[in-house]
Amino acid sequence: TDISALLLSRIRDVADYPEPGVMFKDITPLLADPEAFTALSDALAGIARSTGATKVVGLEARGFILGAPVAVRAGLGFIPVRKAGKLPGATLSQAYDLEYGSAEIEVHAEDLTRDDRVLVVDDVLATGGTAEASVQLIRRAGAEVAGLAVLMELGFLGGRARLEPALAGAPLEAL
Ligand code: IMP
Repeated sequence: TDISALLLSRIRDVADYPEPGVMFKDITPLLADPEAFTALSDALAGIARSTGATKVVGLEARGFILGAPVAVRAGLGFIPVRKAGKLPGATLSQAYDLEYGSAEIEVHAEDLTRDDRVLVVDDVLATGGTAEASVQLIRRAGAEVAGLAVLMELGFLGGRARLEPALAGAPLEAL
């Protein structure tokens, strides 16, 4: 579609970053372009509305940049899911495996309730590990997952298939 072509044209491929053999998708040119950033925010806000979300969760750190304007445009609250040790209040945490080692993400326990339907927003879906952990975290907080919306999905890494059981029918939208 038109918007996909616009968004794709503003994503820069950076070879061998952050390590040799990786082709990094750099979204900073998109953020710097008001037309593209606005189109992205509007499209994600449309997904938030169509899924009936009551809150937007953004995944540190680029999910904060993309998720905050979506929350404002859709008239919803924004909840940060952060790397362990960054949130000052009482948290729920979820550990997950990386290619080498493991990582942990956290959310303020009081930010999500049983009445919430949450749209998770991030920039890039790669292996799906981060998104899967965030879905588990949201469910453990008692809330429902309305869906997962990303700017870009790296299909060859199989994240969509990995996420299917965790999403349990909730939509995964990649723009
Ligand atoms: P996953 O857990 O393997 O799906 O990795 C997804 C997380 O890593 C997301 O939070 C992304 O922001 C980040 N990430 C992975 N690959 C890229 C990339 O090529 N560009 C930007 N972010 C990336």
